[in-house]
Amino acid sequence: MNDDAAAEWAPLEDTVPMEVLRNEVAAWAKRIGVTPNSVRIRPMKRKWASCSSRGNLTFNVELMAQPAGLRAEAIVHELLHLKVPNHGKLFNALLKSYLAQDKAPNTPEPL
Ligand SMILES: [Zn+2]
Repeated sequence: MNDDAAAEWAPLEDTVPMEVLRNEVAAWAKRIGVTPNSVRIRPMKRKWASCSSRGNLTFNVELMAQPAGLRAEAIVHELLHLKVPNHGKLFNALLKSYLAQDKAPNTPEPL
């Protein structure tokens, strides 16, 4: 893994360390059963994350200052694109079911 690009940016305070974001991406990738070609974390202007057709994922450095739920949503969304390249019914169903697993057990959600 190449961290050179990330090291150019000044660390943000009051955020989770970049390592935590990387670990979350790795954990979700394992759970979903995909292997990103690369994972980069850098400032982005208008999006939380992006996924190239070659499986290169980029996450906005500002995600580290966001609630865990939002981070999970962005991470699962991009990782799912390695399985489903569009935002169709299947994509949305998978996204919902993965994110629902993280909710409290007493707040069931229809699948
Ligand atoms: Zn998308």
